[in-house]
This record gives sequence, C-alpha cells and structure tokens, in this order.
Amino acid sequence: MRWRDEAVDPAGAGVSSYLARLEAAFAAQVQSALDDGLPVVVLAAEARALAERHVAPSRLERGGLLLGEPFRRAADDSAIALVHVRAAVPSDADDATAISLRMEADVWSRAREVLRTGEVVVGWFHSHPGIGAFFSETDRRTQAAFFRHPFSAGWVIDPLRQEEAWFLGADAAALAAQRVLDAPA
Ligand SMILES: [Zn+2]
Repeated sequence: MRWRDEAVDPAGAGVSSYLARLEAAFAAQVQSALDDGLPVVVLAAEARALAERHVAPSRLERGGLLLGEPFRRAADDSAIALVHVRAAVPSDADDATAISLRMEADVWSRAREVLRTGEVVVGWFHSHPGIGAFFSETDRRTQAAFFRHPFSAGWVIDPLRQEEAWFLGADAAALAAQRVLDAPA
C-alpha cells in the first residue's frame, strides 16, 4: 500500500523545537495562534506557490502531496499542535479522484525522493475549479482512508474563485482560515 507512510512517528516532536527555528516575529505570530489550543498549519511560501501554479491553469481537478513535519503540543502531550508544510509535490493526473484514490505511482516516488530527514507526507492538495473550496463526500472518504493521521491535512483550492479550505485528521475537521499561517518566504 503505497500511501502508508510506514516510517512515521505520528506524534512528532514537541512544537517548542519548531518555534525555536523561526524568526522571532513569526514565532510570536505562530505562538499566538497556538494559544487557543487548536491545531495550526504553517505553509511554506514555496509549497503554496508550487501548488497554486500546478492547479491554476487547469479547469480539471488537479493535485498532489504535501510534505513536511507534524509537531505535538509537548513531550508529554501527544495532541497535534502544528503541521509544517514545506513542499508540495504535484501529480500529473488531471483528475482529483485518480489523484486521491489511485495516485499515479510516480508522485509517490517523487515525494520519497524529496522528503528530508524527519519529514513525512503530511497531506494532499487538490483543486475544485469554479465549484468552491470544500470537501466532497469522496474527499472525506479519501481523507479517512489514506490521510488518517491526526496531522493529515487536506487542502482544497478553487483557483477560479480564489478560495481555499483546509481540513485536518481522519475525520476531516475544518480548519478556520486564521489557523493557516503563511511562513515568510
Ligand atoms: Zn475534491
């Protein structure tokens, strides 16, 4: 089963180790988002640019994988605190259903090649051109079947309406827009 990321420690490291890496002003912004106890996604500028560039020119559903690192609240608290999305790996399939359920073998191999130490597949992205950014029933089933870690993120982009939405975990809980922070480039 290619989708299983067998090497994952689903809990990840404590989020303080992540905050320590950030430039102070952005770390403060992330900390304030963490303060209410709900999960946060930090999206690297390159990952956003690549994903948006991949889906923008197509009226077909397109997508790919998201790579990065999950972090838990603390060493003794396994609740997911933050997901850092470092990279997006586009799939060549012009069909989100194919992407999600039967992702061409290629994208998985390419993802494996660019994973850095400590990184895992933290989720997937796909587009809904012109129909709005939401999770369909198929998307929910995909998330539950293939992206079922507490940190697994699902990012839907409507490039025509310029909307996006994020979902987290096996049950695809909606993540409010203010919980997704764009990292400084
Ligand atoms: Zn969808």
